[in-house]
Amino acid sequence: MRYLQIQTQSTTLAAAIAAILVAGSGVGAAGAADAPAAAAVTALQCGHLIDTANGKMLGATTIVIEGGHVKEVSSGVQSPAGAKVIDLSTQTCMPGLIDSHTHLTHETSRTGYVDRFHWNTADYVVRSTVYARRTLLAGFTTVRNLGDQENESVALRNAINAGIIPGPRMYTAGKAMGSTGGHADPTNSYRNDLIGDPGIPDGIINSVEDAVKGVRLHYKMGDDVIKIMPSGGVLDESASGDNAQMTLEEIKAVVATAHDYGFAVAAHAHGAEAIRRAVIGGVDSIEHGTYMDAEDMKLMVEHGTWYVPTIIAGDFAARQSKVPGYYPPQVAAKAAAIGPLIQATAGRAYKAHVKIAFGTDAAVYPHGQNAHEFELMVEAGMPPMFTIQAATISAAQLLRHDKELGTVTAGKLADVVAVPGNPIEDISVMKRVSFVMKDGVVYKVNSVPVDTAL
Ligand SMILES: [Zn+2]
Repeated sequence: MRYLQIQTQSTTLAAAIAAILVAGSGVGAAGAADAPAAAAVTALQCGHLIDTANGKMLGATTIVIEGGHVKEVSSGVQSPAGAKVIDLSTQTCMPGLIDSHTHLTHETSRTGYVDRFHWNTADYVVRSTVYARRTLLAGFTTVRNLGDQENESVALRNAINAGIIPGPRMYTAGKAMGSTGGHADPTNSYRNDLIGDPGIPDGIINSVEDAVKGVRLHYKMGDDVIKIMPSGGVLDESASGDNAQMTLEEIKAVVATAHDYGFAVAAHAHGAEAIRRAVIGGVDSIEHGTYMDAEDMKLMVEHGTWYVPTIIAGDFAARQSKVPGYYPPQVAAKAAAIGPLIQATAGRAYKAHVKIAFGTDAAVYPHGQNAHEFELMVEAGMPPMFTIQAATISAAQLLRHDKELGTVTAGKLADVVAVPGNPIEDISVMKRVSFVMKDGVVYKVNSVPVDTAL
């Protein structure tokens, strides 16, 4: 009854919503007023299962789920006594997908650059609940959320974790950190009297001291990971999308402090010099990496740095740059120049044996279309199995949660999705996820969402 205790001011409404959630889930335990609950024991009879640890397509496999965890995985069609059986015999099962780069509290739109003068944080957060549900129903049961406006993604994460709204398990960076006038600066291009002086709480750091304090503030505000902006970016209204915007000393200070607190550090970087500094500075992943050169790739292999390409974001932004008025002129110019290059960079990075995790920069394109990234990765030259591993076991390693996520293995969290076909033969089937289970709770079956109350 945790939910009712929190909502003391609106107990009746909260009880009604919770009841609808449980009824709509189709799998909720009777009598509970809490959010969707897992059936006691569930058996998923899969036509195939992708063994992401070994890169193998297995035959018919039964996955037994109990209490939100995988209890047993056995070959063939099994019907354990007392288990609720779900027939996925025409489907290919795999671990819940992980998107290593999302922004769940906003989304691209023609009015986005004006909305921020009219909308309060609450407007973004209310909409984010819809984006979160869309992302989950697309098969993404976990996301690494790499940037928001004022740490509002923590509220979204907490509501999802409490079972109040459906969405992916979130690990969030809160507000990204960068320098004055850089990609994280919230007042770029504003007229002079509105520019103000954004500081550490706004994600703006300009010294080693600021960097240390900024990371500690993220710890205090309950974030899970740190995101920095060592290079310019496409969608802010400043001149360069790839210049170097943080010193090596600032990056090293962020990384050292972050690692003290158990945070991994993700670095947005398009330019080769910014990538070099970030890798030498010790970051855990490079995001986008557009102008990554051979030296950068060599350094990344040496340092074991992950690469999260986000090809779909570059592709979408490049296409939108041709739509008159969709972006401000300087953003359109950057999107047209940088966007089309990411796919070729990703192909070269794969050949150079850089570690690659799946990530899309969701929000730059509409939430829920995440799986199109698989097709773009395959087009870039990556084998289909590699792309599925990038979105499961590899992304789980980048998250430092591979003990609970990334494979369908006894003891791990019961995150399982299925597609109606063989993605190794036709990767586009990843866009038609038909079954979604997260923490043992079914959110979609036979391609139909089961949380119909929402
Ligand atoms: Zn991003």
